[in-house]
Amino acid sequence: MGDPFDLTAGWVQEHLLIPVLYQFGLMNWEDVSYGWALFALYGAAQVAVTFAVCLPLERWRPVERWPDSDAVWVDAAYTVLSRVGVLPLVTYVLFYRAQVFVGGWMADRDLVSPTLEGLFPVLLGRQVATFVLYAVILDFADYWRHRLSHQFRWWWALHSLHHAQRQMTFWSDDRNHLVDDLISFVWFGFIALLIGVPPLQFPLLVLVLRFLESLSHANVRLSFGWVGDRVLISPRFHRAHHGVRAAGDRSCNYGAVLPWWDMLFGTADFAREYVETGDPSGDETLATGSYWQQQWAGLRRFGCVLRQRLARLRA
Ligand SMILES: [Zn+2]
Ligand SMILES: [Zn+2]
Repeated sequence: MGDPFDLTAGWVQEHLLIPVLYQFGLMNWEDVSYGWALFALYGAAQVAVTFAVCLPLERWRPVERWPDSDAVWVDAAYTVLSRVGVLPLVTYVLFYRAQVFVGGWMADRDLVSPTLEGLFPVLLGRQVATFVLYAVILDFADYWRHRLSHQFRWWWALHSLHHAQRQMTFWSDDRNHLVDDLISFVWFGFIALLIGVPPLQFPLLVLVLRFLESLSHANVRLSFGWVGDRVLISPRFHRAHHGVRAAGDRSCNYGAVLPWWDMLFGTADFAREYVETGDPSGDETLATGSYWQQQWAGLRRFGCVLRQRLARLRA
């Protein structure tokens, strides 16, 4: 007996993906369709695990209770779409193709693709240590991506969609603007190529990191204690980042999984209590609109900033 993920992925590939790829003349994607199906299943399992862990926590000690929580349903849609659909496609299929392309390009020029083991031979044969180090480096890169997205006005126009939610729950991690997501994928993928993350490990890394990020958004009174909060980001720590008064470039706690970078670069705030979340400077549609209304409102805000910038350049 193979494992149930393998068997199901094989079934999905054979009965769903290959017929569709064949229909659209895309059979050159056949070789990656199995991996895609497998990581989509892992994504679905991750959503189930996140739900099973975070929902009881939110019921146990909620920070806030809302009379109706319709806005949360849109966040749930963001999560399923991202974890089952988009992330497996980007972190496995596109990343794999990008790595093959870069590897070929470098081989043609007699260059060797960079790897962490190449840089630090001590890591050779130590798979777990290497995997952890990849995660630490990617998290460091994500700290700077996130911090810059609060700094530049055009980027904040997009990222403010993530902050618009006043009913923050474990579903809120994936509520992002598509353009913001695209920038994140390019940023993350570039760093992963640079440090030579193997194609099968990249989607696994993203699965682990994003599970912890979901937990940090949960509507729960939970911190990991004085020491724990300085090791791993807790819901209390990330809530301070989403605080109403912290919107834009006055925020703190930019880290995704590790609080170390905030501590190192002076942006950590462990004192803020369980604050109210949201971004009062944004359009109401960004907070409570449907998926497409939110996307459109984010694009309008982005366009507005670009137009102001152009007008200033012309003046
Ligand atoms: Zn932010
Ligand atoms: Zn967040």
